[in-house]
Amino acid sequence: MRHPLQVLAAEAAGCTKCRLAQGRTQVVFGVGDPDADLMFIGEAPGFHEDKQGEPFVGAAGQLLTRMLGEVLGLRREDVYIANVILCRPPGNRDPLEDEIEACTPWLVEKISLIQPRVLVTLGNFATKFVLNTQQGITRMRGAAYPWHGRTVIPTFHPAAILRGGGERSRQFEELRQDLELVRDTLAALERPPERVTVPDVESVPEEQLELF
Ligand code: URA
Repeated sequence: MRHPLQVLAAEAAGCTKCRLAQGRTQVVFGVGDPDADLMFIGEAPGFHEDKQGEPFVGAAGQLLTRMLGEVLGLRREDVYIANVILCRPPGNRDPLEDEIEACTPWLVEKISLIQPRVLVTLGNFATKFVLNTQQGITRMRGAAYPWHGRTVIPTFHPAAILRGGGERSRQFEELRQDLELVRDTLAALERPPERVTVPDVESVPEEQLELF
């Protein structure tokens, strides 16, 4: 039986809700584990993603994939990776208001089927969109935000790191710190709730009983 996410992806493949349908090679729906606890959200497909039909496969994607392994010990198949926008905007321009609006239901439906517990927004665009904020990524990163019963952790877009100082930059170190926060947040979710044990009255020495 097909996972409901595959049914949704098949439906999205023919989407013509906005003008981006005309210039795309294909819809880039998302990739990874449909039941992942961790989901990454970027902006929109670029040149390579549009050609291959998979998000984050270009240089930025390779950096993301490597950091995923190094810091979280996870492979791309262990998480879910998607974008706010399903189709490549011409020349990689910023998505327009009506394109974002047309694409939002796909993302909302995707999140409700995957039910990730932690979402990482990559860069300004995804962070502002998901957290509905005007604050830039430099202000927002380094923290975890509660969001509809889940946790959102914003960090720099790997493409911004490549355009900036690369692996020797402060941003790169901060990306690593943010992914460590993701790792710790996921680990805390896995830990069973702490149990409070109340001593059995029989086993408490007589002289201590008055304490209870
Ligand atoms: N940048 C994005 O935001 N998403 C991709 O899929 C690739 C590059």
